[in-house]
Amino acid sequence: MASIFTKIVQGEIPCHKVAETDNCLAFLDINPLAKGHTLVIPKPEIDYLFDVQEPLYGELMTFAQKVAKAIDATMTCERVGMAVVGLEVPHAHIHLIPISHVHDIDFSRPKLDLTQEELAAIAKEIAEVI
Ligand code: 5GP
Repeated sequence: MASIFTKIVQGEIPCHKVAETDNCLAFLDINPLAKGHTLVIPKPEIDYLFDVQEPLYGELMTFAQKVAKAIDATMTCERVGMAVVGLEVPHAHIHLIPISHVHDIDFSRPKLDLTQEELAAIAKEIAEVI
């Protein structure tokens, strides 16, 4: 069965898209730890990030860097943190999270409750500087 992220790639499930290349996609996390919490994925469905082969792995990291710089430029934070978890969705992804304190990247913290309108505005703001 296709992963939820493959369904997003195929347009079967909506997302708040931040950026896209032929092989990679960045979109806002539906349950963000912070405003601008973004997921960066390879479009091909590969479960574990560290099983992604070159050249896609390098392409994904370079894409994530561009997205992170755009988040940094638009969101209120000291820097952008990067995390790999992957315990919930078996489709490789990188979390990019605006942080100002170490606890801002603590996944056990309560998530933000943002409206669809707020998420759309955040995605647009980040997308505009990529
Ligand atoms: P992980 O697999 O890294 O533990 O967590 C998966 C992340 O994907 C979670 O932060 C969760 O909020 C996010 N997520 C799960 N399902 C969806 C979805 O359908 N859309 C979006 N945008 N994010 C999702």
